[in-house]
Amino acid sequence: MSGLAYICGYGYGSNSDESDCEYVPIDRKRQKLPTPDLSKVSIVPQDEHVDDPELHGGRSRSFPHVRGNWATFIYIKYLEGELQNLVDKLQTATSFIDNSCQKCKDIHVSLSRTVVLTYHLITPFSISIQTALKNVESFELGFDSVKVYCNEEKTRTFIALKADCASNQYLQKITKIVDEVLLEYKLEPFYEDPSFHMSILWVNGNKQKELTTIIQDLNHIVAEEIGRSLKSVLVNKLHCKSGNKHFQYFLE
Ligand code: AMP
Repeated sequence: MSGLAYICGYGYGSNSDESDCEYVPIDRKRQKLPTPDLSKVSIVPQDEHVDDPELHGGRSRSFPHVRGNWATFIYIKYLEGELQNLVDKLQTATSFIDNSCQKCKDIHVSLSRTVVLTYHLITPFSISIQTALKNVESFELGFDSVKVYCNEEKTRTFIALKADCASNQYLQKITKIVDEVLLEYKLEPFYEDPSFHMSILWVNGNKQKELTTIIQDLNHIVAEEIGRSLKSVLVNKLHCKSGNKHFQYFLE
């Protein structure tokens, strides 16, 4: 219910027993109005910010929040569904190396780095992305192997599923388009040599070396799950999160 609807609820009775036409004016002097429940009405002030890693793809911010600056990134959302079976198996396998590996939330494929936009640029940026993606076709996204990544600060290690060859071609095309918009806004483009992936497990610190020693075992598990819990999905929309705003762009 919108705030307006709550306000409209005042003044006239809305009891279903009453006829549609017979509105009974309430005597405002004698009857105390109930306090409206506005808990479901979004009232996030534009300038106030509480850092929530969920808003930037489950990743913790690697730069401090500056008032008026908003962490922004573009990504493909992957609906976890049946993937949990594979994630559980990989988590068990990694526990022999490090038993503190955790499952990633809000599983996604990044199509940009996390960049910073000032509030007044969020809407123009989103419109530019939407315009740039206008003729991009929907495509099938599949994964074929495991790779271990580390963030640039080397504070977190990720075990990820690598996009397959066919998907890579579409992903490259999209990031090129997104990069052009990022450059227009003087923001850092994606990696020069992008490696498209979907992080599914993460662990604190740089554990790349240790986890790479079991990559064959992990790849074996993935190979067994392709077509079972790991299926190709149709990507017909992309997402952008900027602070507490969320945009979607539909593909052709
Ligand atoms: P993500 O799951 O998209 O957040 O990616 C996990 C980490 O992979 C990020 O912190 C990236 O910095 C890192 N990464 C390292 N090398 C690459 C690469 N070539 N392409 C994409 N991401 C990379």
